[in-house]
Amino acid sequence: MIVKMTLFAKVVLDQAIDRPLDYAIPLHLQKTAKAGHRVVVPVREKPRKGTIISIETTSLFTNVKEISEILHDQNLLTPDLLELADWISRYYAAPMSKVLLTLLPSIVRKEMSEKQQIVIQKAISGPKLIEFTDQIRIKFPKQAAVLDVILRNPKGLFLSELLELDGITQSPIDSLIKKGILEKALLTVDRTPLHDEEYIPTKPKVLNEEQAVALNSIRESIDSNIFKTHLLHGITGSGKTEVYMQAIDHTLSLGKQVILLVPEIALTRQTIERLKSRFQRQIAVIHYRLSDGERFDTWHHLRKGEIQIVIGARSAVFSPLPNLGLIIVDEEHESSYKQYEDSPCYHARDVAVVRGKLTNATVILGSATPSLETYVNAKNGKYILHELNTRPSGEKPTVHIVNMRDEMDKKKGGALLSDVLLDKIKKNYDAGSQTILFLNRRGYYSCQICKECQKAISCKHCDMSLTFHRGLNILSCHICGFTLKPPIEICPSCHKPDTMKYQGPGTEQVERSLHAIFPGIRTLRMDRDTTKHKGSHDRIFGEFRTGKADILIGTQMIAKGLHFPSVTLVGVLGADSGLHIPDFRANEHVFSLITQVAGRSGRGHMPGEVVIQSFLFDHPIIKLAASDDYKTFAEAELIERKEFDYPPFTRLVKIIFSGNNPLHILSYAENFYKALKKALPQGFTLHTIIPCGKAKIKDKHRFQCLIKGNNILKITPILRSLTLKKPKSIHLLIDVDPTSTF
Ligand code: ADP
Ligand code: ZN
Repeated sequence: MIVKMTLFAKVVLDQAIDRPLDYAIPLHLQKTAKAGHRVVVPVREKPRKGTIISIETTSLFTNVKEISEILHDQNLLTPDLLELADWISRYYAAPMSKVLLTLLPSIVRKEMSEKQQIVIQKAISGPKLIEFTDQIRIKFPKQAAVLDVILRNPKGLFLSELLELDGITQSPIDSLIKKGILEKALLTVDRTPLHDEEYIPTKPKVLNEEQAVALNSIRESIDSNIFKTHLLHGITGSGKTEVYMQAIDHTLSLGKQVILLVPEIALTRQTIERLKSRFQRQIAVIHYRLSDGERFDTWHHLRKGEIQIVIGARSAVFSPLPNLGLIIVDEEHESSYKQYEDSPCYHARDVAVVRGKLTNATVILGSATPSLETYVNAKNGKYILHELNTRPSGEKPTVHIVNMRDEMDKKKGGALLSDVLLDKIKKNYDAGSQTILFLNRRGYYSCQICKECQKAISCKHCDMSLTFHRGLNILSCHICGFTLKPPIEICPSCHKPDTMKYQGPGTEQVERSLHAIFPGIRTLRMDRDTTKHKGSHDRIFGEFRTGKADILIGTQMIAKGLHFPSVTLVGVLGADSGLHIPDFRANEHVFSLITQVAGRSGRGHMPGEVVIQSFLFDHPIIKLAASDDYKTFAEAELIERKEFDYPPFTRLVKIIFSGNNPLHILSYAENFYKALKKALPQGFTLHTIIPCGKAKIKDKHRFQCLIKGNNILKITPILRSLTLKKPKSIHLLIDVDPTSTF
């Protein structure tokens, strides 16, 4: 029997059940239980964990069971975050359990002791340890390897650190502990990264007129506590970061907290340095390379309001700050803000705006090349637009476009670096200045194709050609890691001998060519191959900034937002390759990429130059990017988007069906399509099912269909209910506002 005063909790279980379940709150827990609390509840007599999403005074059900236990001493999710989760679940058509997992990662849910870590240290004296190590070296090389590390670190090492080292595993460590050679100890530490580094203080700069106008308006919003979104549209080097920093300063002075989103993990270090030098206080960092311990500590510090500034990649938008005043999304146009692999397929920029609205915080979106969605929002007055058109320190770089067709004729086919670019690299090198070369392809050659049938050697498991890596002498798939040993002499498709040729030079080749042409030149390369280890981004950037290299070669990792004042030459290779991709955003991507890369040149006091090498010499996008003419680009692009009915004039939903058996997927997808067609309200159109741009990934075949229409919230419940009847063998992903249709 349920007495009158009973309160009920709606609980979302951790396992993906689509609906929340009702539970009664026992009297002794009524004071504590709040929305956002983690709880244990009985499900078919078994204890299960879940999250309370709301407290109710009634329940539609009889015989409601009671909550068994409340976990943690506080509610982990605050009401504004729960409201945000609800919006994400509805807008992105994602199950609430998955959304909650995004906001409250499983490591954070654990009740692990906050600050204790296992340290492995020696249990016998140094000389004895050396002797012992030598004795076992032949018979137990793995144990000896562990002891070698301990000998180099006489105070011991964290177990987690030890296990990150090459060739070290748990079992030899355990054996050594059993033998009494090593011992475990618990050490209390704070695993929040970077809390003990020192930075040289910087002072706020005197703002120029454009910056001052923008900052004043932003400060007004922050003071008013009324949600507003500002678009800071400023050319590269126009001092957007300076405006961010002064806006952050103002927010902190009111006792409020700040989230700064950056699009690329490679950028976090540099941004942290600039912020730490200015604010001299603790800054939290959130990105996917944090260890579990680091993530746990950081999250709980934030929840308690102990850190005022958070920098991070897209998931940092969910930082549990109790008194959020400002959210900044730097390079808001970047597609890395979109999660597209897994549900919920959220866009961190859009989530930032919604979160701002829910918490009455101010939002700043910054970019030199705003996404067209944002640009239109600013033009319509939904966002407040501020334009920064000058560089406070120095001039815009001079840009040259080199026609690579002429270059190919001149050099009989084999042109990677044009004469113009080589000449400028040499001059820059002789003058002791630094150069950045950008090429958005890693490896030595991006594929090996047959001269007869034009087919490339591709992965066994993916719809992807294999890249040749010369250093490792392998052909490898950049999706799944499948490799083949070269040389391949017979075409696997048409079986003709001696027809295979390499094509599409990558960063590895650029680096080798430079060394051949300029013996003694010092280069650094930054791509996925050189940044596999934690901390490698920081190392490469650190070396480049401190002048340990003359040239930095890299993929899009080096394109965004980097600030190296002594770089005076930027070379953009293969600038046009992205224009061939059959996607409605192809032009936008190429335009912003070239603008961003070019913007790395001449950011200090010395004037900068940019060389763009292009096979599509006359292409309007390349020309507009070279002249940094965003407005003309945007207006022309908007006309095209309108004509073909693409965002921002409509919204898109991409549904991806995948699985092992293409026939099964197709037949399921066709039924789904029919049901959806029947259920779709007016104003929506449904496109036919086609194979995805990458039709196979890791042995999973993929098909997609596209919905166009405006009021997304009208159709997401329909999509959700249709997905409920899906067989286990088929994977279905709903991607609302996809960044590409390819
Ligand atoms: P953005 O973020 O727009 O690319 P930054 O904020 O990195 O530009 O600024 C580029 C350079 O200009 C930096 O070296 C910065 O210190 C300098 N700068 C910015 N604002 C001013 C200013 N008002 N006066 C002098 N230098 C400035
Ligand atoms: Zn593959």
